[in-house]
Amino acid sequence: MVNSFIRKFAFDKIPVHGAFVELTDVWYTISSQKEYPDGIKQLLGELLVANILLTTNIKLQGKIIVQIQNNPKLDLAVSECSNKLKVRATAKFAASAHQDNQISYADCIDSGSLIITIDSDNDGKLYQSIVVLNGRSISDILTEYMLQSEQLHTVFFIAYSEKKIVGCMLQKLPDVEGVYTEDIDRVFKMAETIEHHELLSTEINVILKRLFYEDDIILFDSQHISFGCTCGRERVINMLRSLGLEEATSIIEDEGIITVTCDFCNSVYSFNEQDVLSMFTNLSIDLECISNEIN
Ligand SMILES: [Zn+2]
Repeated sequence: MVNSFIRKFAFDKIPVHGAFVELTDVWYTISSQKEYPDGIKQLLGELLVANILLTTNIKLQGKIIVQIQNNPKLDLAVSECSNKLKVRATAKFAASAHQDNQISYADCIDSGSLIITIDSDNDGKLYQSIVVLNGRSISDILTEYMLQSEQLHTVFFIAYSEKKIVGCMLQKLPDVEGVYTEDIDRVFKMAETIEHHELLSTEINVILKRLFYEDDIILFDSQHISFGCTCGRERVINMLRSLGLEEATSIIEDEGIITVTCDFCNSVYSFNEQDVLSMFTNLSIDLECISNEIN
């Protein structure tokens, strides 16, 4: 039994395909890294499911990052999914949001921007799209994004509960001669009847049979989704190097030690004075080597 998975499907005779995502254990791991207000927790869960559906739809080597920024009540919400289906997500918000649990899901999508970054290993480039938030749900925003960026009619449904999130995507494939227009319309109309409680409580094959009883559907094997953080001591050292020696030593003077905690997985990385000095000494040796090679 796989707890968190994606399962793709395709219509045998109609140019439409889709996928279901179900998150349980992975969602528990991510949502228990911090105490989140309810609204932010729902937003983060929906971003994550949307992120997974996007990543498996846009075939790439690398990862997709989905973020919400510039929202007055939420500093940042970010989710990442690699092509190997390793995911992580976190959100930052003012501590005061907690005391009264005042941030609702509606607040999180009310204003700000949703930024989708495609980080491809193939050419090392980043491709970014920005969508303005104005109260539409994450699934509605994605529907619009896919139409604009991929020119493909795609619909998303995301059903959230505290312990389980289920997402479904349905996508029209090219139908050059318009032979299948009626069938495609019928399939998308039927998909609109999916209820959130049904997504959360019913097996995927049962939902497909109920919705599309007229059609032959190929249901592919499940692919496992796992939690995976990409943090590490080397990455933190690079981040500290970017602060500069002066800033790093001033923290050591004030605090005696530099402690960095990963927002995604709560791993703690500590550096004493000796560590800080050696990370900058090693850096100057590295730079010397590079300049010698250039010369
Ligand atoms: Zn981490």
